[in-house]
Amino acid sequence: MPLFEYKCADCDKVSEFLEKADAKTTHTCPACGGKTMKKQFSTFSAVVKNPAAGSNCHTCPSGGTCPHSGL
Ligand SMILES: [Zn+2]
Repeated sequence: MPLFEYKCADCDKVSEFLEKADAKTTHTCPACGGKTMKKQFSTFSAVVKNPAAGSNCHTCPSGGTCPHSGL
């Protein structure tokens, strides 16, 4: 499931949400509770969280098992 970034129109906080590509999903800002979330078209997060990129995970040390690779 792809990860999308949404920016809150009220407090400008960017949050990440997992959602289906064609889902008409509305999100609520976890910081202020605002319901005006604008989708950000950044591919950075999607690349990092991609299972195929587990060996290149920026969070985990190289080698061994990466807990992020199963996401
Ligand atoms: Zn907000």
